[in-house]
Amino acid sequence: MTARTTTHEGTASTVELTAADRCDRCSAAARVRATLPSGFELLFCKHHYNEHAARLAEQGAAVYEGAGEPVSA
Ligand SMILES: [Zn+2]
Repeated sequence: MTARTTTHEGTASTVELTAADRCDRCSAAARVRATLPSGFELLFCKHHYNEHAARLAEQGAAVYEGAGEPVSA
């Protein structure tokens, strides 16, 4: 689940993904955090992100990759 840490470096954008973050579709470690314009957050493993990437882009989701690898479509 997503725990909201109140203050960390003051950036409102994202919180680092940790090993405790799990994909919303399976139980693999989350690699990507997608935030919809509504503010709703989804966590995906690499596999499920790839599966949903087009739809997320379509919805205008902001995608943050936690593992340091660039997000490629
Ligand atoms: Zn998954």
